[in-house]
Amino acid sequence: MAAPEFDVIVVGAGAAGLAAAQALRDANANLLLLEGRDRLGGRVWTNRNLPNLTLDLGASWIHGTSGNPLMDLARRFNVQTARTDYESLWRYDAGGNELSDRADESLDNRFSELMSAVRRQRDGMQDDISLQTALDQVLSGAQLSTEEQRELDYALNTEVEHEYAADSSDLSLKFWDQGEAFNGSDVLFPNGYDQLFLPLTDRLDIRMNQVVQRVAYGSNGVTITTNQATFTAQKAVLTLPLGVLQRGSVAFDPPLPAAMQTAIRRMGMGLLNKLYLRFPTAFWPEEPHLFGYIAERKGEWAEWLNLAKYGDAPVLLGFNAGSYGRRLEGLTDTQTVAAAMTVLRTMFGSSVPEPEGFLISRWAADPFAGGSYSYLRPGGSPDDYDTLATPVNNQLFFAGEATSRDYAATVHGALLSGQRAARQVQGKN
Ligand SMILES: Cc1cc2nc3c(=O)[nH]c(=O)nc-3n(C[C@H](O)[C@H](O)[C@H](O)COP(=O)(O)OP(=O)(O)OC[C@H]3O[C@@H](n4cnc5c(N)ncnc54)[C@H](O)[C@@H]3O)c2cc1C
Repeated sequence: MAAPEFDVIVVGAGAAGLAAAQALRDANANLLLLEGRDRLGGRVWTNRNLPNLTLDLGASWIHGTSGNPLMDLARRFNVQTARTDYESLWRYDAGGNELSDRADESLDNRFSELMSAVRRQRDGMQDDISLQTALDQVLSGAQLSTEEQRELDYALNTEVEHEYAADSSDLSLKFWDQGEAFNGSDVLFPNGYDQLFLPLTDRLDIRMNQVVQRVAYGSNGVTITTNQATFTAQKAVLTLPLGVLQRGSVAFDPPLPAAMQTAIRRMGMGLLNKLYLRFPTAFWPEEPHLFGYIAERKGEWAEWLNLAKYGDAPVLLGFNAGSYGRRLEGLTDTQTVAAAMTVLRTMFGSSVPEPEGFLISRWAADPFAGGSYSYLRPGGSPDDYDTLATPVNNQLFFAGEATSRDYAATVHGALLSGQRAARQVQGKN
């Protein structure tokens, strides 16, 4: 049997794969990086298709700048950042009327009281239930007006469901907000998130359009079969997203350990989608960073980022998560833009012009992602992240946001997991 061609094969050129490959390259490993798509970055997807615009269809922000390893990269590569002020938010009711300061404050107070009651309820709780079930229990008997119900749905959707990319009925009450966070503000990149990662590709042997279909491991090393070729190595770092593992589009021989298969099934792969709209001019108020829309139906076009704050371009970015995000993926581009425009015209008046251009993400339908990022369902456990991160046979080393117990669902979590996998490959901890 011939010796394996490579010391290590890294699968996936997102944040985790590029971080792992860079660390292994620095350790002088004979290394190959395989990527299924025709672009780098994975769920960091900077798109420059619209003239003179740089728009991120995946991650936008560094969440928490203090001590965040991504800030080191931003400084090292001299990348311009811009802070988002989440307090700079103007909200509109379902009829398009802007909320008064008093109504704004009252909404925030009622929501924070409700969430405190929900947190008290989970203390000492035995069996896990969903966050929504807990909310229903806390609110049972309360006589909410239509407006109050809409406001509550709006706050829950924008503050919880958008962050965790899942409906409250899918989130574990016990663990939906587990994990760690860096302090400091959130910053985004007016000239693209990919500026942090493209320099990491230096001196790497990266083969694009190599869709991994099978990973075999055992006494002969690791054999990876793609749609184009077969490669062998002593070890592999696999950064396949949870959504890809759940779809079973990569076969493992022998199959992955039972505990890992259980964790893969039990964890949730969430959905957050983006729609960018570019207009001839900015018709919306200049001042706020964000606009909120308290829709009649929960979760529909509730959050908008004013991109004109970060550059000159008259661009708005709408977010949708969970089940509504999924429903939108079934619509055509024209239908999606029309749905968004109905809301914008309700908020800003019937004379709002048609957009000159748009970009739509559909992360659930993407075969290389299968969703946006991971979350914990009722009955799940933070241990599932550790299970996914456990090396198999000292040959397969897993990385990616869904293997990061402390920082799941983030770019920094993915980056740190890639560095961890590189250490494990070298027998370090
Ligand atoms: C809409 C959206 C907004 C987000 N916002 C933020 C944010 O503001 N801040 C933040 O910190 N995080 C955010 N995230 C999360 C963040 O983008 C991810 O956690 C992170 O980028 C994941 O990196 P990764 O390396 O684990 O996975 P990925 O980036 O998905 O990398 C995996 C790679 O494997 C490749 N691959 C998959 N299957 C195969 C196969 N069969 N063969 C070969 N290659 C394959 C993929 O193409 C991909 O390049 C957001 C995500 C989305 C989708």
